[in-house]
Amino acid sequence: MEMMAEARAEVRELGKRATPARLTTLLFLRSQARPASHAEVSRALEPLGFDKTTVFRNLNDLCEWGLAQKSELGDHVWRFEPSQSGSHRSKHPHFVCVDCGTVTCMDQIQLTRGSLETSRDIGKVTEILLRGHCNDCN
Ligand SMILES: [Zn+2]
Ligand SMILES: [Zn+2]
Repeated sequence: MEMMAEARAEVRELGKRATPARLTTLLFLRSQARPASHAEVSRALEPLGFDKTTVFRNLNDLCEWGLAQKSELGDHVWRFEPSQSGSHRSKHPHFVCVDCGTVTCMDQIQLTRGSLETSRDIGKVTEILLRGHCNDCN
């Protein structure tokens, strides 16, 4: 299973132990089209024998190591998504549907360093969030 071998190599490269729970969590995030909440990841991984606490710890470990990133999009739910090929993916905006709550990554929109520093009142931008109605809710 090539993706598993790849994930194992990436985790080991960081000097971390490539435990089954870590690899499974990482592969699950990579299989998703959109960011997943802790509850969603737990629901998928619990049948495989990984409890909520383990999943939570692994999600945060992956973020800390740069293999994943997390976003809080105004509903107090952290959502997790993989960084691209183990490196930090540049921070991209997320679109949130105000009707159904669906979150979509807007990878095609790039914000330049300059555009993030146009105002001296801005400290550190942590989330770029767009809201509207998705196609299903329109
Ligand atoms: Zn919607
Ligand atoms: Zn995203």
